[in-house]
Amino acid sequence: MHTPMFSLEVFPPKRNAPVGTIYDTLDGIEDLGPDFISVTYGHGTHSDRTATARIANTIVNEYGIPAVAHLTALYSSRKQIDEALDMFEQAGVTAVLALRGDYLDGETPVGEFTYASDLVAYIRSRRPDLKVFAACYPEGHYQAGSLDEDIEHLKIKIDAGATHLITQLFYDNDDFYRFRDKASAAGINVPIEAGIMPVRGAKSTRRMAERNASRIPEHLNVLLERWQDDIQSLRTAGILYACEQIADLVAHGVDGVHLYTMNHPATTRRIWRNVETLLGTDSAGSSAGAADAAADAT
Ligand code: FAD
Repeated sequence: MHTPMFSLEVFPPKRNAPVGTIYDTLDGIEDLGPDFISVTYGHGTHSDRTATARIANTIVNEYGIPAVAHLTALYSSRKQIDEALDMFEQAGVTAVLALRGDYLDGETPVGEFTYASDLVAYIRSRRPDLKVFAACYPEGHYQAGSLDEDIEHLKIKIDAGATHLITQLFYDNDDFYRFRDKASAAGINVPIEAGIMPVRGAKSTRRMAERNASRIPEHLNVLLERWQDDIQSLRTAGILYACEQIADLVAHGVDGVHLYTMNHPATTRRIWRNVETLLGTDSAGSSAGAADAAADAT
């Protein structure tokens, strides 16, 4: 059977959070054996531009797991990008996820990079040894006129040198399959990892879906309404929902699954173990089904 890639995303703890929280997250996921862990990049004025490289360094050198560093374009000068690439190289990072980033209220973009494709091309020219990943949007990016238009722009990123795509969260696999078909028809033939965001709260799910222009399908809406005042049950339902999404993706030959951990190792573990069971790769020999594993969701 085709074994898809599995990868995880973590983010640097907030400035006022205890430094050890990232170790709690990594300790909780290290034995899952992901193909890589990616680390997000914050680009606001108050963001710490060294945080991504420091955490990537920890992942590579303390946990022995390949790391992918996110990097955003809008609020960076070429000099700052060069500095980030130097830090990534020292950390032993194997690939950079090149992003445009969102426009921030009250902050003016530097103006040296307009789109992610500009950053992809720049990294390719500066560091031909680094792999360059990019983002994609099964339902279309929220600023694009249409999905077709967004895919035309995506092709520019691929032509600039991106060799691997990771999707924005989506809750209806049909959106992913439609996008994958359209991307393929547009000549985009690089691996596409499906980004899966487990539901952990009703309000946060609705907020995130609205921000990303992602649709909440009716069967998920039913769960959000049914369990909105019972967080434990909602989290269990969220784990089951993510497992069902992943099972279906695997059955449809997905290239890879990228779990947005939101730095919640317990949820990530439960989903992952179910996926291993599903794929028959469960190293612990556990045959716990989705319902069993989700029963003690926290
Ligand atoms: P782009 O590819 O530049 O696209 C942005 C918009 O411009 C789209 O509407 C596109 O259709 C349009 N466009 C692109 N090229 C052209 C062109 N040549 N001409 C006209 N229009 C064009 N944000 C962070 O701040 N930090 C992170 O770590 C981070 N990680 C992410 C990881 C993933 C997997 C994903 C999916 C998103 C992530 N984001 C992150 C969010 C991301 O920065 C936003 O979604 C942002 O709005 C778009 O970034 P992009 O790289 O997709 O932009």
